[in-house]
Amino acid sequence: MIEKRQFYINGEWVDPVSPHDMDVIDPATEEVCAVISLGDQADTDAAVAAANAAFPGWADTPLEERIALIRELGEIYTARKEEMGEAIRMEMGAPKDLAHNNQWGAGSWHLNGFLDALEGFEFEKPYKGKDRMRLEPIGVCGLITPWNWPMNQVVLKAIPAMAVGCTMVLKPSEIAPLSSLLFAEMVDEAGFPKGVFNLVNGDGVGVGSQLSSHPDVDMISFTGSTRAGIAISKAAADTLKRVSLELGGKGANVIFADADEKAVKRGVIHCMQNSGQSCNAPTRMMVERSRYAQALEEAKAAAEATQVGPTTESGRHIGPVVSELQYNKIQDLIEIGIKEGATLLAGGLGRPEGVNKGYYVRPTVFADVTPDMTIYREEIFGPVLSIMPFDTEEQAIEMANDTVYGLTNYIQTQDDDKRLRVARKVRSGMVETNGIGRQNGSPFGGYKQSGNGREGGAWGIEEFCEVKAISGVPME
Ligand code: NAD
Repeated sequence: MIEKRQFYINGEWVDPVSPHDMDVIDPATEEVCAVISLGDQADTDAAVAAANAAFPGWADTPLEERIALIRELGEIYTARKEEMGEAIRMEMGAPKDLAHNNQWGAGSWHLNGFLDALEGFEFEKPYKGKDRMRLEPIGVCGLITPWNWPMNQVVLKAIPAMAVGCTMVLKPSEIAPLSSLLFAEMVDEAGFPKGVFNLVNGDGVGVGSQLSSHPDVDMISFTGSTRAGIAISKAAADTLKRVSLELGGKGANVIFADADEKAVKRGVIHCMQNSGQSCNAPTRMMVERSRYAQALEEAKAAAEATQVGPTTESGRHIGPVVSELQYNKIQDLIEIGIKEGATLLAGGLGRPEGVNKGYYVRPTVFADVTPDMTIYREEIFGPVLSIMPFDTEEQAIEMANDTVYGLTNYIQTQDDDKRLRVARKVRSGMVETNGIGRQNGSPFGGYKQSGNGREGGAWGIEEFCEVKAISGVPME
């Protein structure tokens, strides 16, 4: 069993001031795979003080030197790929191939996206010939991350913060802290100046809210639930720090009658990926009525073909969900779906057949879901898809927008004009069409209760900057 009680503060691994142990559970086995310690106010204060002390020097370090250290970190991240994949597999239950390839890969994909965006990025530029506009690092940042795509989220925050000259304290999810502890080892190995990057483990009510309300923290960059995003915004209000939020979602996948023949199957697979634990999952499939009956057959077949299996085995199967809490929440929502009258097409309550250990959920599909049902509205965060018919383009748009969220919507049609028309009308930060993914460095973020931040690439770099306007010193 792994014991990782220390925190990374001011370039050293240090013991917590007053240790509170917490078990990390491998969701595939329900067994303890590691023990960490949760920090308290004294640990948070020490990390914030280290970040503050390091800020002036790091902000003044030439950009090329900061970028060279990020490149070095990227090389170490690649060299230690297997270790990182294993940490993610154990802490959050992603099957081996998903953990080692997609989960690990999301980190390097974003890191490279930032390196591309930094090439030629103008931190200072002229305005109307006489003024100059400068982007400067905002200062000390608290980075609070979730468990579902752990390295994806840490890289999306730590790399741009480092690049622009901010210093930081990372508080990863207490449920999945092992990948972040390894990331801190990599930062150490790359040789960043002490205090630039600090890590304190802790829970939301402890280190999370201490960072959010800390007078010496200039910005919180948060990814996680809308519930916690609201709590953080309130905790940050007294110090008026910047709060950048990447929150939940309830994405619509609008499938018109003229969509390509794989559209339904692709939508089901996408919804089930990572055991349904993605904020941008297409969880509400809306199908044009003339294709509805056929779509239900295809969706049922695709869900039944989705294998559920151990995380230690290679393959394209899905693994467990992250915790007992999540498992129970998903079971409750499946039960509510049945009680409220949705048609259960595939899956349902309980573990998959033959499985009696681990937080495994049956890939589940509901049909005839209506807007008054709980499963139409609530983010389930499990392998559960809701399907419903629509009659007109206007109705599809109205249904897609009938949610408090606005992260990613999906549109499937072979009519280019219609695809663009609908993409312009849906209220979300991202729209993916016909199964084509976005480029790295394209901004990730949401409308409405999906948050207010944009991460990745040039937009993600600007998030960590203040804008300064200077007159009377024109640029050559
Ligand atoms: P969570 O909100 O429970 O926890 C996320 C992080 O916030 C953890 O580090 C946790 O300790 C911390 N936290 C919790 N309460 C806090 C508080 N009051 N103050 C400060 N910190 C607090 O979310 P989770 O269960 O880890 O992750 C799942 C959620 O994350 C889902 O809702 C999902 O949609 C969302 N998510 C969003 C994105 C995005 O970019 N939009 C990406 C991934 C996940």
